[in-house]
Amino acid sequence: MHEYTRALVWFRRDLRDFDNAALYHALKLSRQVVCAFVFDRDILDALADPADRRVAFIHASVTELQQSLRAKGGGLVVRHGVARDVIVQLAADVQAEAVFFNHDDDPAALARDAAAEAALCARGIAVHHFKDAVIFEREEVLTAAGSPYSVFTPYKNAWLNTLSPFYLQAYPVDAYADRLAAQSTPIPSLQDMGFSHTNLRELKLPLGMTGGAQLFEDFLQRIDRYQETRDYPAVKGPSYLSVHLRFGTVSIRQLAAAAWQQGGRGAQTWLSELIWRDFYHQTLWHRPDVAAGHAFKRQYDALPWPNPPGLFEAWCEARTGYPLVDAAMRQLNQTGYMHNRLRMVAASFLVKDLLVDWRLGERYFADTLIDFDLAANSGGWQWAASVGCDAQPRFRIFNPVTQSERFDAQGIFIRRYLPELARVPDTFIHAPWTMPAVEQQRAGCVIGRDYPLPIVDHAVQRGLALALFKQASPPALK
Ligand SMILES: Cc1cc2nc3c(=O)[nH]c(=O)nc-3n(C[C@H](O)[C@H](O)[C@H](O)COP(=O)(O)OP(=O)(O)OC[C@H]3O[C@@H](n4cnc5c(N)ncnc54)[C@H](O)[C@@H]3O)c2cc1C
Repeated sequence: MHEYTRALVWFRRDLRDFDNAALYHALKLSRQVVCAFVFDRDILDALADPADRRVAFIHASVTELQQSLRAKGGGLVVRHGVARDVIVQLAADVQAEAVFFNHDDDPAALARDAAAEAALCARGIAVHHFKDAVIFEREEVLTAAGSPYSVFTPYKNAWLNTLSPFYLQAYPVDAYADRLAAQSTPIPSLQDMGFSHTNLRELKLPLGMTGGAQLFEDFLQRIDRYQETRDYPAVKGPSYLSVHLRFGTVSIRQLAAAAWQQGGRGAQTWLSELIWRDFYHQTLWHRPDVAAGHAFKRQYDALPWPNPPGLFEAWCEARTGYPLVDAAMRQLNQTGYMHNRLRMVAASFLVKDLLVDWRLGERYFADTLIDFDLAANSGGWQWAASVGCDAQPRFRIFNPVTQSERFDAQGIFIRRYLPELARVPDTFIHAPWTMPAVEQQRAGCVIGRDYPLPIVDHAVQRGLALALFKQASPPALK
């Protein structure tokens, strides 16, 4: 018994045709299912860089999704326009009785979906939406008092206590694949949409569902060593799956199930990172104001950030004179990815050494990261700036030199991204300004000419940061 003769599935941050909640439910309830993706002008027109790697990633992934749906006997209609309008028109054009999609809890996406839903309902078209991007969303994991968690460890314990195989089950889409409609359209090129060539292919980042699967398979071979390796940027320690999680070319259920079943120390640590992701997503759901530039701890909204002229630009352009920070920023600028340890170091440095408002750094990451995720980025920045939920205490200030000595002891990562320091001896690689003039000559790197002098003195800035934070702390903490 079918509820609908024809339904439409609207793909967004779930660019896969396996284990997809909305696609599965649409197929189960309908005789025929048309699949659609809209390159949303509301999002794309606001992007400043025509060579945005995310658009190229989405384009490649949508192309693969269309091919994969075709191989199953289906298709994918692809449009370029204002999604909330296009989807309503398309549903009417294909005579869909219902539209199915998966949740996206970014505030702007919620507003878009509410507008689309209202317009669809006004035309008598039913709307169904589902959890798909996380294991637990919204109000699913709450304290005994029914409020959202703001500290990670109790959240994680509650998350793990709530988990059962039910939540990790895959949606068997292929069981109903014969209900896919063969409707397809050509995919507009990046150029058609005003975007240009990026270096995504040269980066050899595996794309689409096959790329996500390839990376995951590779990671499963080393998941046991994750705990020991994940903090060293020169080592292949983490999974590099963040962009695939962002755009749903992998299934979070499949990833979490593999980590849960494996159960070793590495797998458990990795599962914790997936739980951090859920934690920040539920934080955004309960506190959408954090996405609008407010600190989770509102008293820190009033901090008078000095924002000294030129320092933010030097940080963006990898000219701080602190090699680990500069190498991190070059990795970001050249590849769109930055290792997690370096995100923490670079963010801390901007906020607590350069005394620049964390919102500027958050925005720069948002514009540049290929895996930019509003919830995780806002959470990560507010953690580093000590203004968020379960954040780094304000008096914990990373020393960029000791972080470098600890996590890139031989300077392998630094030299990879700062070739001007290639011949600087290990003893000076973390603080090259301490290198005697004769060593500088020998290394072919004169500090102040070939590589910048440090733009600030860490010890001095540390004191200034502590004084700054005192201004916004409750009197008892001063
Ligand atoms: C200042 C700052 C900004 C950040 N911005 C983002 C962002 O925009 N998008 C993003 O996906 N992650 C962000 N992170 C979290 C983390 O750095 C990246 O998820 C991770 O580096 C991605 O690499 P990976 O996939 O190899 O991670 P792995 O170590 O393999 O982790 C697996 C997955 O767990 C999730 N995860 C890991 N760490 C975190 C975390 N701290 N918070 C939330 N989820 C996490 C990610 O989805 C990641 O892909 C940020 C962290 C900081 C400190």
